[in-house]
Amino acid sequence: MALTITDDCINCDVCEPECPNQAIYMGEHIYEIDPNKCTECVGHFDEPQCVALCPVACIPVHPNFIESRVQLFAKYERLAGNKVD
Ligand code: SF4
Ligand code: SF4
Repeated sequence: MALTITDDCINCDVCEPECPNQAIYMGEHIYEIDPNKCTECVGHFDEPQCVALCPVACIPVHPNFIESRVQLFAKYERLAGNKVD
């Protein structure tokens, strides 16, 4: 699953630097997550780092990006390969 950030985000800046995939960025008003880059931290950590750190718990699963762990690992490998390129 990719995750998403809701309107409850207070722009505290904690999550963005901790994302191993650089999937979090500042949007027009609040931080946002690129679902094509979010692996729910699969391949890097045992749990989503942004969820663990967010002080207001505003990072649920993106309803349009339900993915299995196998799919998430494939995304991780694709992203890792892109970094080499
Ligand atoms: Fe980044 Fe992991 Fe959060 Fe996805 S779950 S946005 S990969 S820190
Ligand atoms: Fe927003 Fe939570 Fe990220 Fe802080 S940690 S910027 S409140 S999503």
